[in-house]
Amino acid sequence: MELLSGPIAAITLVVLWSFEAFLPGLAGPAAGMRQRMCHLALGLMNAAVSAVVAGLLLLADMWARGHGFGLFRAAEMPWWLEFLLALAILDVWHYACHVLAHQIPLLWRFHAVHHNADKLEATVAMRFHCFEIAFLGLLTIPVAVLFGIGIQEVAAYNLILLPVSLFHHSNVRLSPRVDRVLRLFIVTPRMHWLHHSRWQPETNSNYSSVFSVWDRIFGTFRSRKRAETVEIGLDGYEARDIETLRGMMTSPFGPAKSEYGERPDAAVLEPDDPLVVIELKKAETGAV
Ligand SMILES: [Zn+2]
Repeated sequence: MELLSGPIAAITLVVLWSFEAFLPGLAGPAAGMRQRMCHLALGLMNAAVSAVVAGLLLLADMWARGHGFGLFRAAEMPWWLEFLLALAILDVWHYACHVLAHQIPLLWRFHAVHHNADKLEATVAMRFHCFEIAFLGLLTIPVAVLFGIGIQEVAAYNLILLPVSLFHHSNVRLSPRVDRVLRLFIVTPRMHWLHHSRWQPETNSNYSSVFSVWDRIFGTFRSRKRAETVEIGLDGYEARDIETLRGMMTSPFGPAKSEYGERPDAAVLEPDDPLVVIELKKAETGAV
């Protein structure tokens, strides 16, 4: 199943790059080919890291099956329910690991490589330091064993995550109305652009990977009516940290560099969510 990830990534990228070329969504200059090539190189390196982690997951899965270990095996559910629960558990686990990557300074050093890109486009979905991919993969193994989630279910989740992640990192102009409906289910570009904002309250929001529901459940959802005005990136880095493959691999080491940007003008921060707007109006008027 993992062999499908290459063709799925290629097809999704061709579609998204076409939209990015003709219908860019974000204000400011578009990303260049050099950035895309660096990200594709990182993607290949991370695919090799993921293959090693998948080998370890396979061994753990064989051990769990051999010993009848795992909550799902004890519950004896229909296969489709087990599959849906496995997807939900893997996705909420991704959400939790993502929050930790923002909150724990050592993890943030590596995750900041993903955030210091100053231009968003689909391949930013591949811009992760290899140590972060290894760490996240290794953290998935005990969860899979505990619940009895098989390697096929992990591979299926990764096959869903890949195109959704390329999509929500892309710089495509999607109608705000369509985006609003789509993000009831999955993470969309206008939702995820805020996660790449230089302003910390927005950087530390919208952590979900596939299903957007986790941000609403755990209170980390934010929106902007004018999402296209988000200033992408992190302060504190030099151009070579941001633009070169060598910089992406070495910037987590040495003195901490990442800094958050200033609060944007209030005029661009108007939320784009009916429930949040109602809450803000209540807070302004003192209504309960
Ligand atoms: Zn993040």
